[in-house]
Amino acid sequence: MTQKLIEKSKKYLWLPFTQMKDYDEHPLIIESGNGIKVKDIYGKEYYDGFSSVWLNVHGHRKKELDEAIKKQLEKIAHSTLLGMTNVPATELAEKLIELTPEKLTRVFYSDSGAEAMEIALKMAFQYWKNIGKPEKKKFISMQNGYHGDTIGAVSVGSISLFHDVYGALMFESFKAPIPYVYRSESGNPSQCRDECLHTLEQLLIEKHQEIAALSIESMVQGAAGMIVMPKGFLAGARELCTKYDVLMIVDEVATGFGRTGKMFACEHEHVQPDLMAAGKGITGGYLPIAVTFTTEKIYNAFYDDYKKLKTFFHGHSYTGNQLGCAAALENLRLFESEKIVEQVSGKSKDLHFLLLGLDSHPHVGEIRQLGFMCGIELVQSKETKKPFPAEKRMGYHVSLKMRELGMLTRPIGDVIVFMPPLVSSNSELKAMVTIMKNAINEVTTC
Ligand code: PLP
Repeated sequence: MTQKLIEKSKKYLWLPFTQMKDYDEHPLIIESGNGIKVKDIYGKEYYDGFSSVWLNVHGHRKKELDEAIKKQLEKIAHSTLLGMTNVPATELAEKLIELTPEKLTRVFYSDSGAEAMEIALKMAFQYWKNIGKPEKKKFISMQNGYHGDTIGAVSVGSISLFHDVYGALMFESFKAPIPYVYRSESGNPSQCRDECLHTLEQLLIEKHQEIAALSIESMVQGAAGMIVMPKGFLAGARELCTKYDVLMIVDEVATGFGRTGKMFACEHEHVQPDLMAAGKGITGGYLPIAVTFTTEKIYNAFYDDYKKLKTFFHGHSYTGNQLGCAAALENLRLFESEKIVEQVSGKSKDLHFLLLGLDSHPHVGEIRQLGFMCGIELVQSKETKKPFPAEKRMGYHVSLKMRELGMLTRPIGDVIVFMPPLVSSNSELKAMVTIMKNAINEVTTC
């Protein structure tokens, strides 16, 4: 039966972000989960060291979340949000607005982070059109940025490996540098920040009259390799957007809902975005709900008599799904009752010390961390920061070794991603870091 399932998976599936030749050599089918562990069809257990792709908050099969979904199912599973609403989507909107930076007062639902970004981009574009400045129609985005896989999100992305192939399909967006301190010439966080802000300002001076918005991940560039921005960079970018009358789209898809030790990462720098995308942890990692938040000013630019044609003509079939919204409401109730954000903030200090245990390893170049969002960059030489040859696929092999040792995660090139569920206890964190350490040791020494 198990072998048959493996064969079926190889025969019928095409998995996301996966070279299927790799999958065929190392198949894996998860059957169940409990707490911060998942179990495969052979009964082998793994720590969920990347929160099932950066989503999970309370662990798997959290009783309260399971119950909330069952309770909602007794009423209705789904009805549309086109021209009407439903009970949990409405309650959730109020709750979300209580939690987001105060300038954000409106909630537009969708189903994935990429869609939430796509919506933010379209809203920004149409906003300027609706207020009579149609010339502001281009975007600035950040080098090495990642906002999801739809064409709009890819257009403001800049990860060569994923995006270059679609170059001809993308709309133009001007790229601004991001402070990647470890690989900068000076290695000095303030200098690197100031140089990048200076270049961004030059771009804005030259182009601001044609720029609708700047898009940026919040505090950490996740898919670029967990690159934590130096203090003051996000706030500096906000100041420049205000100065040059450009909307700021902040992407909190990966960082939102407690991941960095604040409810939203932009709170680290008291940044108030004009548009903000969120998803992933919003339902605790249970169901696909995403959100684009915006200000009353932007909302009002779309509010008029129908004949003025200012309507935002965008929506998805499952937008505002009741089961997802009910799970999200319960998730947010648990955030309060279990003080999740405070817990992450406290435990991330302990995690920092645990990760320091890896720092002396000859192939660990840099350990980056903000809250429970961590990346360990492996290098061939610690002294020169020289990377391993790409064809060695070091990160991939370390991750396979971790799988063998009982933990799942996905690398980004040679950066080992560690993003455990937010409820992970100190002893669980310790066990996971030990697996990581052993895997790095074994793979880099053979
Ligand atoms: N934005 C950021 C910063 C992300 O990290 C991701 C996914 O990892 C996305 C957007 C896309 O989200 P989704 O996979 O839900 O479309």
